Amino acid sequence: VRILGIDTSCDDTGVGIVELAPDGSARVLANRVWSQTVHAQYGGVMPELASREHVERIDRVTGDALAEAGLEVNDLEAVAATSGPGLVGALLVGLMYGKGLAQALGVPFYAAHHLEGHIFAAASEADLKAPYLALVVSGGHTHLFDVPREGEYVLVGATRDDAAGEAFDKIARLAGLGYPGGPAISEAALRGAPDAVPFKEPLQGQKGFDFSFSGLKTAALLAHKAGAKPEDLAAGFERAAVRFLVKTTLRAAQACGRETVVVSGGVAANRALREAFAASGVRAVFPGKDLNTDNGAMIALAGAAAIRAGREPSALSEGAVAYAPLANA
Ligand code: ATP
Ligand code: FE
Repeated sequence: VRILGIDTSCDDTGVGIVELAPDGSARVLANRVWSQTVHAQYGGVMPELASREHVERIDRVTGDALAEAGLEVNDLEAVAATSGPGLVGALLVGLMYGKGLAQALGVPFYAAHHLEGHIFAAASEADLKAPYLALVVSGGHTHLFDVPREGEYVLVGATRDDAAGEAFDKIARLAGLGYPGGPAISEAALRGAPDAVPFKEPLQGQKGFDFSFSGLKTAALLAHKAGAKPEDLAAGFERAAVRFLVKTTLRAAQACGRETVVVSGGVAANRALREAFAASGVRAVFPGKDLNTDNGAMIALAGAAAIRAGREPSALSEGAVAYAPLANA
């Protein structure tokens, strides 16, 4: 089954195509992302501008994805699009476009949850079968879900303040390292001394599996004011954040009895985080290249998982939702 996936939840117009084989494996045939640049001058995403840019770009990005896959639009057998969470106006563009396309082609339509998309991005690298633990570390989320069965998400931990990606972005801005902050911190960290600035482990001694980045942020701010080098700040913060994420996730995996950990969302692109999980002994599965940050292929992969699980297609009346918790327990 060839599935087209669309994500317009924020400021990226993403369209991807995935082929679901009869054996249940999924292969990414195309993945095109148009990253909006208009927001840079405002220092943050302007929702109304994001919607307009999606409207202008979505048809072209879809054409590019079809060309990349070497397919005609009539070759598509299903369409999936993100219905939430995200910016409602932005979501609506991709959702309506996807529904219209499915309707015109006479193929089933699947509304996808953005975080399920992030999690299923890892299905490009491994056959993803429950049970597993999922750590979603993105620009807006730092959530740990236990997935005991396909489609069942139990929230076991979440951030009490900033999301991990948000902390990378804020500290990068503070240190003058540019945007997006994740890749900038990672690059600068290679030239810095991780011990130059002291970062205390957050929530030390907690019994649960929550996250918090405000303490690391404050430490970075104080060190910056005291004249710390940006590279040293980056190195110290990255190491502390990675250790904290890995340690908490491993404790949760043990508590839930899970042998596989899926790590996804934009921060899953982080090299130090990947190395730390690889050295941890747990079976860690990450999304493939270019599938960590927002994209359409991950939504096509979520659609493929829905088809594989025999889920009913979504009603065309399904709307966009700004707030939509994934956990159903
Ligand atoms: P959400 O999915 O929660 O709605 P989002 O879609 O905006 O948020 P993503 O696109 O998944 O977030 O991820 C973007 C975040 O990932 C940014 O905060 C960015 O700094 C971070 N990021 C990207 N690459 C890296 C990296 N190499 N290291 C650390 N963080 C990174
Ligand atoms: Fe995202």
